[in-house]
Amino acid sequence: MNRMIGLVAAVAALQMSVCLTAEAAQTFSWDKNNWVAFDDTVTATVECPDPAAAEWVKTHFAEWYGAHAPNVTGGTTGLALQAGDEAYAAEVNADGVKIHARTLAGARWATYTLRQIAIAKRGTFKTEGMLLPTMKISDAPHLPFRAIHFCWFPEVRPQQIERAIRLAALMKFNYAIIEPWGMYKSEKHPWWPWPQANMTKAEVSRLVAIGKDIGITLIPQINCYGHASSSRGCTIKHSALDIHPEYEPLFEPGGWNWCLSNPETQRVLRELIAEMHENFGNPPYFHIGCDEAERQSCPECVKTPNGELVLKHITGLAEFVKSRGARAMMWHDMLLDRADFRWKGFTVCGNKETGAILDKLPKDIIICDWQYQDTAQHEKGALTDWPTMTYFKEQGFSVACCPWMNDKSMKPMADHIVKIGGFGFIETTWHHLRGSEWQKMYMGAAYAAWGSPVSHDVSFQRSLRLVGQDMKVTDYLDTGFLNYQVSPGWWVNN
Ligand SMILES: [Zn+2]
Repeated sequence: MNRMIGLVAAVAALQMSVCLTAEAAQTFSWDKNNWVAFDDTVTATVECPDPAAAEWVKTHFAEWYGAHAPNVTGGTTGLALQAGDEAYAAEVNADGVKIHARTLAGARWATYTLRQIAIAKRGTFKTEGMLLPTMKISDAPHLPFRAIHFCWFPEVRPQQIERAIRLAALMKFNYAIIEPWGMYKSEKHPWWPWPQANMTKAEVSRLVAIGKDIGITLIPQINCYGHASSSRGCTIKHSALDIHPEYEPLFEPGGWNWCLSNPETQRVLRELIAEMHENFGNPPYFHIGCDEAERQSCPECVKTPNGELVLKHITGLAEFVKSRGARAMMWHDMLLDRADFRWKGFTVCGNKETGAILDKLPKDIIICDWQYQDTAQHEKGALTDWPTMTYFKEQGFSVACCPWMNDKSMKPMADHIVKIGGFGFIETTWHHLRGSEWQKMYMGAAYAAWGSPVSHDVSFQRSLRLVGQDMKVTDYLDTGFLNYQVSPGWWVNN
C-alpha cells in the first residue's frame, strides 16, 4: 500500500488495521467523511461489570492524551456484544464515545482500537485533542490464547524487547512467551547465562508489571532438552560451557542437549524453572522448549532406551511445573517420528523412540506445533489441513498452531485450530524481529488470531510509534523497525 497517502486513504488503511478487528467483526461501519472531536469536550461511557474497566480507560486516556483526554464515566451503552470474555463493542458519534465489554480485557481492546484510529485535530501547531470518525464496531477474537514468542538474544537491545511486548498488546495478543538465549541472569545458577546477561530479575519484574497493566501475560521459557547451548547451532557458541567448562557433566558431548541421565540436570532445570516462574509472577504456563534435540550420546544416557529417557525427563519437568500451579508447554517436533509417512510435507524431528512416547506424556502439556510452510501447495489453496495438529488433539492434548513468516498460512492455521477445538495461536519470531519481517509477522498473526484475512497496511507504523510514545523513547536506535537505516560502517566503507 502506498505510504504517501492523503487523509482519506490513510483512514481507509486504518480501517484495515482497526483491524485486526474490523473484518472479523460481525458489525463494523464508519463514515470516513464525518469526523468528530475526541478530546476533553467529549465523554466516553464505559459499560462493564468490572468497575476497574472505566478506571483503566480513564487512566490511560490521561496518559495518552494529557490535558485533552476525553472524560470517562461508567454507565449503560445499549451496544450489543458478541460471545466471549474478550468481546467488545464501541460507538463514536457527535454525542460521544461508548464502550461495552464484559471484562477489563475487552475494554482494553476497545480502547486500543480507538487509539489506533484516532488522529490529531487539524490546523494547529501542536496537538490540541484528537479526532475519530463516526463509527460502530462489535468485535471478538478468533482464539482465546494468542501469543507472540520472542527470543532475547545478546544482540537485541532490552528496549526492543519492551517495544515488542507493548506492540503485541496493542495488536491484541494476550500472551508473550519469552525465550532467553543465555540472557536470563539467574541468581541460583549464575554460570548458566552469558556474563553480560541483562535479563535481570528487576527488568523481568518491570516488564511483567507493564504487561499486567496493558493486558499481556508474560510466559517464561527454558530449553530443557535440545538447544541447551542457548545459542544458534550455526555459531557453535555455548552460554555455559564456553565460559564455565566445569559444568560439562550436565550436557551431552558437544553441548547441544542436556544430559538426561544425570539427576543433577533435572535438579538444575527445576531450580531454574522455579526461579523464572516466580520472577514472572507465577503465570499459568511455562514453556519447556524441547525442539530439535539430538539423540542422546553420552556413555550413561545410551544405557537407557532413548524414548524412555526422554519420557522420564519431560514428565518430571511437566509434573514439576504442575506442582507450581501451571501447565507446561512444549514444541511438538520431537514427539513425531520423521519417518512416519503421515507427516510427509510437515515439520517433525523425532525418531521412532521419541515418536512413541506421546501417549504416556501428561495430558495437561500444551503441544506447540510449529509449521512454517508457505508452500506452492498452499498457494493453490490446498493447505488447509494440518494433520499433526489434528493428531495431537485426537490424542487428548491441547494444541497451539505456531506459524513464523509463512503469513499465507496464518489464517487457515487459525481456522484449523478453531475447527478442531484447539488451544491457541503462537506466532514465533526467532531472529527476525526487525524490519519488514517484524511487520509481516505481527500483522499477519494479529489478523489471523482475530479471524480476519491477513492484510498488511500502515497501522503497524502507527502502532509502533504509539509504543515509542508510551516508552518515551529518546534514542534513535529505539525508533522505527530497524536500529539503523544504513549500515553503521557505511560512511567508512562506501
Ligand atoms: Zn547423557
